[in-house]
Amino acid sequence: MNRLNHKFDLCVVGGGMAGLCAAISAAREGARVAIVQDRPVFGGNSSSEIRVHVCGADRHGQIPNMRETGILEEFRMENLRRNPSRSFSIWDTVLYEKALLEPNITRFLNCSCLDAKMDGPRVKSITAWQLTTYTYHTIEADIFADCSGDGILAPLTGALYRVGREARGEYGESIEPEVADSKTMGMTCLFQAKDTGSPQPFEPPSWANDYPTDDSFPHRGHHWLEMGYWWVELGGEDDSIADTEKVRDELLKIVYGMWDHLKNHGDHGAENWALDWVQFLPGKRESRRYIGEHVLTQNDVESEGRFDDLVAYGGWTMDDHAPAGFRYPGKPTIFHPAPSPYGISYRCLYSKNIENLMFAGRCASASHAAMSSTRVMGTASSMGMAAGTAAAIAIKHRVSLKEVGKAHMDELQQRLLRQDAYLPWAKMHFTDLTQRAVLRASSGDPEPLRDGINRPVDDNPHAWSGRIGDSIEYTWKDLRHVADASLVLDSALHKLVQMSYLQRDSQLRQVPEEMVKDFRVEIRAGGHWQPWRTVKGNCYRLARVDIGAEVDGVRVIFDSTWGAQTVRAFAFYLE
Ligand SMILES: Cc1cc2nc3c(=O)[nH]c(=O)nc-3n(C[C@H](O)[C@H](O)[C@H](O)COP(=O)(O)OP(=O)(O)OC[C@H]3O[C@@H](n4cnc5c(N)ncnc54)[C@H](O)[C@@H]3O)c2cc1C
Repeated sequence: MNRLNHKFDLCVVGGGMAGLCAAISAAREGARVAIVQDRPVFGGNSSSEIRVHVCGADRHGQIPNMRETGILEEFRMENLRRNPSRSFSIWDTVLYEKALLEPNITRFLNCSCLDAKMDGPRVKSITAWQLTTYTYHTIEADIFADCSGDGILAPLTGALYRVGREARGEYGESIEPEVADSKTMGMTCLFQAKDTGSPQPFEPPSWANDYPTDDSFPHRGHHWLEMGYWWVELGGEDDSIADTEKVRDELLKIVYGMWDHLKNHGDHGAENWALDWVQFLPGKRESRRYIGEHVLTQNDVESEGRFDDLVAYGGWTMDDHAPAGFRYPGKPTIFHPAPSPYGISYRCLYSKNIENLMFAGRCASASHAAMSSTRVMGTASSMGMAAGTAAAIAIKHRVSLKEVGKAHMDELQQRLLRQDAYLPWAKMHFTDLTQRAVLRASSGDPEPLRDGINRPVDDNPHAWSGRIGDSIEYTWKDLRHVADASLVLDSALHKLVQMSYLQRDSQLRQVPEEMVKDFRVEIRAGGHWQPWRTVKGNCYRLARVDIGAEVDGVRVIFDSTWGAQTVRAFAFYLE
């Protein structure tokens, strides 16, 4: 058996949306990062192995301009450019490539974390088994981030954690049961089917369940055929880790029985449809939740989570599934109202008792009630970015995770905003280079470009609007060193850009027409403008161009969009 040892600044365990965003943000902030993922692909529940669409604070586009930006938005825009047919394999490729091309990331795929060594209250190393190479990898790191969903490092490190529902009185949560229990939300196996255009017979496997009538599915609509049913859910009354294989077997009986029902029992419009894929790896909703310095609760969510140390946000309802899942005859979930947005404290992202352990995603520090909202993957991505950026700051200043929250909170929030994360109620601060320069636009009022808010909020667009061919520029009287110029462009935050098999007419299949496609950057030295860089085919909201020169002006000229005549930008700043 091979045994290899490695040393990194940060080791992220789990490569779902939370883990991948944590790894990428930390790497971009200068940390050397290992990401250990037990599957061949990244994305967790959103990958081609499970195919759940990423939801978040905009609730499928119902709350305009509330979408999570930053790394997740970068994935989405790249996906729109390259994946018009909405193939989950191409989505996998986009996620894989973002880790592959990030110079500070080392990927350990097909690699399952199964052991940890401690040095007092700190994690010293983890060990992971790589299935494809028959190798044990031992990884030492200054900081570990558990984004495994199942919270694998909790039992391995002695970190405090919780499973199940809190008693109503514990945090004063009105939607929780009187008495605490160990029940969770369950897991699900989905399917995917396609319309072949001609009749397709289906014979169920002998072990599939039999559902002769619709009575088997009370309160459970089964009208769409493309992507399976989230309410095919079990395991919430079992052990959501130890019983997974047993639960999977039961779920597959339901899935095939369900398809038999759609094909062979009554007219469901499924005659020409054929099963294309069935999910054999159950998608999990809830298992261990860490206890952090703060536990996010129903009350925090309902009161908008206006924490001083707000580093991430959510906005999904508290979507609390019945633990009995498919076997529960009532409605399978209750959507308890939640505001969008609500803030999430940095203290929910690091362990209360293990000094160098962070977490994000569904194993973050939240009560069951709050987690029924924070678990969606847009929110998991927002938390992942925050955890990764905080880890990089701790490493850079050689301080503890707790100290980041005390002495470096402004830096953490500002670094997140520079990665184009959205932090509700927070403003981006600019240096004198941007703040004190003369700002001009060839048309329109350019001041919103440095108002520090980079999306429409309430009735204020916080944007400069112009036409194709227009330019914006900063100038000074004397030469200044400019490292780079950043633009925050319009990715149509009011539209639906989800990677999903659910066919919605409103769902975009290409880069939004509002996005700037081609632009040029010019620099001025000694009063003379000269061409500097030409960017073609841009699809990203955050576009950054290296300058690295002494200049007395920087200008951007917008040459084209992906279709719109109007050009919009939310920010233009220099550093
Ligand atoms: C059927 C279903 C429908 C859902 N619907 C939605 C929806 O519509 N929209 C939405 O946004 N969310 C939805 N959710 C919730 C959401 O998918 C999860 O809460 C989400 O996946 C959380 O992201 P994560 O990154 O924390 O965890 P995960 O996506 O679970 O990612 C964790 C990753 O860590 C890996 N891992 C686990 N253990 C180890 C280990 N020991 N070593 C290395 N790697 C490990 C896992 O394989 C996985 O890839 C749904 C969930 C289910 C199951």
